[in-house]
Amino acid sequence: MALKTAQEYIDSLRALKSDVWLFGEKVENFVDHPVIRPSINAIALTYKIAHEPEHEDLAVTISSLTGERTNRFTSLFMSPDDMVKKIKMQRMLGQRSGCCFQRCVGMDAINAVYSSTFEIDEKHGTEYHKRFKEWVKYIQQNDLCVQGAMTDVKGDRGQSPSKQPDPDMFVHVVERRPDGIVIRGAKAHQTGSVNSHEMLIMPTLTMREGDEDYSVSCAIPSDSKGVHFIYGRQSCDKRKLEEGDIDVGNFMFGGQEALTVLDDVFVPWERVFMDGEVEFSTMMVERFAANHRQSYGGCKPGIGDVLIGATASMAEYNGVPRASHIRDKIAEMSHLAETLHACGLACCTQGTKTRAGNYQPDILLANVCKMNVTRFPYELTRLAEDIAGGALVTVPSEADLRNPVVGKYVEKYFKGANNVSAEDRIRMLTLINSMTFGLTAPSYRTESMHGAGSPQAMKVMIERQTDMNEKKRLARVLAGIDEREKLTD
Ligand code: SF4
Ligand code: FE
Repeated sequence: MALKTAQEYIDSLRALKSDVWLFGEKVENFVDHPVIRPSINAIALTYKIAHEPEHEDLAVTISSLTGERTNRFTSLFMSPDDMVKKIKMQRMLGQRSGCCFQRCVGMDAINAVYSSTFEIDEKHGTEYHKRFKEWVKYIQQNDLCVQGAMTDVKGDRGQSPSKQPDPDMFVHVVERRPDGIVIRGAKAHQTGSVNSHEMLIMPTLTMREGDEDYSVSCAIPSDSKGVHFIYGRQSCDKRKLEEGDIDVGNFMFGGQEALTVLDDVFVPWERVFMDGEVEFSTMMVERFAANHRQSYGGCKPGIGDVLIGATASMAEYNGVPRASHIRDKIAEMSHLAETLHACGLACCTQGTKTRAGNYQPDILLANVCKMNVTRFPYELTRLAEDIAGGALVTVPSEADLRNPVVGKYVEKYFKGANNVSAEDRIRMLTLINSMTFGLTAPSYRTESMHGAGSPQAMKVMIERQTDMNEKKRLARVLAGIDEREKLTD
């Protein structure tokens, strides 16, 4: 089947019978809902770029499973270069959307489950990998959007999954039948969940003996019976229900998160890729996390590029583009964005081949990449807010700008330097507002902090991946505590 166009992707969502809830009401037509549509537009971009000749090299690849052209978002990374192209594609999409375009979670999950199932089968003689390959071929041939579903709601963080007072705090198998399994639980703040055709479920943390029912990976259609989506609120989301586009800022695109409830969902065996192999949960989690933490070295500098451009434009509109402290701060913003991108690229080039044959980014560097992402977008937004000025949070509404009585005052008192109109100045302010305060939810800040794991998860991985004994040995040798290196025999 041919690669879907953006329009074909949007139309394909209309066939889903998904159970979506927003503002306490069931949404009958989520595709055209003004709060949800920007997030659909953002994913549609991932389909559009596959048809742009100038971006074909980044967006399209040859499937290692079928030999056919496939969208990179459904592909396996078969070389470090495939991962470099992924990062460059994500930066370009971040630049064009200014927000999370949601489809990377599934791509990264596909790669983690592919390599993990191969190794489970090696040890247990199971057939998960064969099943998984068949499912990936189906995804590729139909150019479907996949949601990677990892984060459980977790309940009491001090208790393991099987010790929770409420057994449903982690997704688990409640029944095994001759034809498949039944799962129950909920995945929290799932990116792009409503907009995806399929959901690839994985465990969220290291499982131990006793957690067998919680060590489950499987795929289900998003509109399966028993799946309920409760849409996450976004800061200022009701602005999208108002007249006009100015107050929304990034009117065209936005992110999406939902609480995904799995209320006794049946999964046939051919879609089950892990069931009880507790000792492989860590592998699956770490590999997915590394792939997705690497991804942030693509999207986040891309979104940063928009913020830097908006900030530099505001400096011009305010008449101070040449002020030395402004130039210094904008150069600092570029430094931060490029450092994030450099980290993303570094973990690709240092990637290694898995036993299944696909490539895995360097786990230590991927966690360092995401650790920087928990910090640098905060500094980027701080500098953007510094330069844009207090009008970021005091600017009048579009309705006042258009009002026959007070509109003339807004036009007069909000105009910028060199005859920049009040409308252009307000548009740039609301764009920055939407990116930093969260209307293109999740905001550039909080999503950078918690998406793909919260900072402490990275710290743990960085500690685990660091060979501290080797570092201490290096110090002992140079200090003369251990024998010093001889330069000659
Ligand atoms: Fe992709 Fe970034 Fe969104 Fe993750 S946060 S899905 S990497 S755009
Ligand atoms: Fe994310």
